[in-house]
Amino acid sequence: MVNEFKLKQEICEIGRRVYAKGFAAANDGNISCRIDDQRVLCTPTLTSKGFLKPDDICTVDMTGKQIAGRKKRTSEVLLHLEIYKECPEVKAVVHCHPPHATAFSIAGQEIPSCILPEVEVFLGIVPTAVYETPGSQAFADTILPFVKTSKVTVLKNHGTVSWGATLEQAYFWTEILDAYCKMLLLAKQAGGVERITEPKVEELLDLKERFGMGVDPRRITNADLCVNTEFGRGFNGGCGCSHPAIPAEAIASGSLTAGQMDALVQEITNRIMESIK
Ligand SMILES: [Zn+2]
Repeated sequence: MVNEFKLKQEICEIGRRVYAKGFAAANDGNISCRIDDQRVLCTPTLTSKGFLKPDDICTVDMTGKQIAGRKKRTSEVLLHLEIYKECPEVKAVVHCHPPHATAFSIAGQEIPSCILPEVEVFLGIVPTAVYETPGSQAFADTILPFVKTSKVTVLKNHGTVSWGATLEQAYFWTEILDAYCKMLLLAKQAGGVERITEPKVEELLDLKERFGMGVDPRRITNADLCVNTEFGRGFNGGCGCSHPAIPAEAIASGSLTAGQMDALVQEITNRIMESIK
């Protein structure tokens, strides 16, 4: 028998972490937890996630209709319900606006992969859902293509949503993602982003299977291991990725093709513009 009060307390605790981490300014973000096949607990609208009390938590049915709670439920619960309906094993969903992860979608950048071992093992490819007006059913539906193959998704120009078997697990995926995105932005400022080679990424995916964390969806669908390999590339390539820079010997010997020369001029121009900024 599920202890509803305890689940409400857990939602409040996750709310405090989300707020303390700066993942949800003012009243942003929302958190939910499944009670059973028919009912879901969720946070109320217009309430800061940093100061929730168990009494603030609402109960909705699987259509989003509020069935208990003194405050009005969040309009974004529709997004959470789509995930619960698709995945019976999911018991908790966390939606918030973590700045570093959200910044990638604002800049039109996919979250790059093949950089940090923990992210390869725990998150894999983090997709970005298309933009829709928050709170609408169309917005809730943007998550559908990713529910079965991911555990955290970036919502374009909006935030993130993550899900799992417990509230803490759902929250952790968001925390791991935002810490990763912060490192990527710092690394880019520090000089560039170097990548793990594909054979070494394969080793990590082997480990993931040995740990009983399942087969990475990239292996099931035969998808590219490394996404957005251009992100943070330095002048000399700075990576073991599949986009080699112009060979140094070609530059030294002056044996550049017209295309390579154009690319070189563009790189130099970019670097000058970057240093002026
Ligand atoms: Zn939101």
